[in-house]
Amino acid sequence: MGNRLNIYERVAKRKLEGKLPEYDGDWEMSMWEALDDGESIVVEIAPCVTLENGDKEWPQEALRRKAVVTLQDIREDCLQYEKETGNCSNCMGDGQMWTGWSADEGNRHDTCIQCRGTGKAVAK
Ligand SMILES: [Zn+2]
Repeated sequence: MGNRLNIYERVAKRKLEGKLPEYDGDWEMSMWEALDDGESIVVEIAPCVTLENGDKEWPQEALRRKAVVTLQDIREDCLQYEKETGNCSNCMGDGQMWTGWSADEGNRHDTCIQCRGTGKAVAK
């Protein structure tokens, strides 16, 4: 399911390429935090384990790595993604964007505001 957090994860992984320790499994974003300047975000990538109930855990604390992702990095990554795939970078082509989560309803989605639900890249 597409949402903006995936972009942070993707950019952080690219920045950490070749620097991640050996680990045979999935790496996912375990944490992110906006920095004071408002222009950059610290993204932590860690080996991820999905439990039987669908929850995720990041048990290998020693293997976690952090990368600083700037808004400029994200803009460049979005342009690159749209060029490569032709998909909308806001919703990753599924036309729906994640708007929040609640215990009653689970994940909530709404029509993507960037592509208006088409899932196609919008010329800027
Ligand atoms: Zn979209």
